[in-house]
Amino acid sequence: MVASRSDSPQATHSSPDPLSSCFEATREGVDTVLQSMNQELYHVQASAMREVAKAAFSTASETGGIIEVPEQGDVLHNILHALHRSPCERSSGVSLDSLVTAVDHMHRYGITPRTLILPRTSYYDLLLSHSKVNPLSVYSLAGHHELHDLAVESSRFLLELSPTEIPDEAGKRMGVLYLKRILVLHTQVIQSLKRLLMQPPEAHAPIEGCDEAIQKALRMDWDVVASGLAWTAGAGASAEGLRSELLTLEATLNCEECKNALHRRVQDVSEQWANVKRTI
Ligand SMILES: [Zn+2]
Ligand SMILES: [Zn+2]
Repeated sequence: MVASRSDSPQATHSSPDPLSSCFEATREGVDTVLQSMNQELYHVQASAMREVAKAAFSTASETGGIIEVPEQGDVLHNILHALHRSPCERSSGVSLDSLVTAVDHMHRYGITPRTLILPRTSYYDLLLSHSKVNPLSVYSLAGHHELHDLAVESSRFLLELSPTEIPDEAGKRMGVLYLKRILVLHTQVIQSLKRLLMQPPEAHAPIEGCDEAIQKALRMDWDVVASGLAWTAGAGASAEGLRSELLTLEATLNCEECKNALHRRVQDVSEQWANVKRTI
């Protein structure tokens, strides 16, 4: 029935058990068997499955009491977890590709992704965890299927990508609305950065060794570094990155009061930068 780990050259995940073991025949109440294209068997309770999606798999053909699902086992496995809203204990062996394909193919089996991939479900959390590494795939998927909460939460990880780097294909998939939202987000974040950097460190009353001219020079140096950052740092800049860049100005200072003013200003910039809204 199922290839074992030793004789399966096609095994794609590190888990020693096949994913179908999440839906074994020994589970309580099972009354329905689904078979994947690679001959894996998945046992489920029809009533539990159809509680969340009335028409689930009603379109698939049935032979000898087995519902044949024209999907690879990993994809069918994911669809079943989504339907059961159950976490997968082997989720580390589940690829993003198979999660995405499963969502894309749900409609073939009478299942609407929007009703299943909801916040606080394990499928949602799993996709979100992938969005840290692959935000474009997750955000595009979310936009395509109108999984709005997922689009919002994954959008923050897209800020490291310049909008010009979004391939046409991904733009098309996420749809005009979600493409526009991500462009607006980028613009807003960059504007916030520019606003934050505009204000130089505070001046202090002239003292011996640090008159107005010296302080003016600091403000001019700040402007140079700040405008450089506003151009190059991008929406995905880290507070730490901004901080270390701005603090390079300290090397030019001999006055303790100016140094303190610089530190206060940099602290302020990094705190406010960390608080900028970063989701669509
Ligand atoms: Zn599983
Ligand atoms: Zn000074």
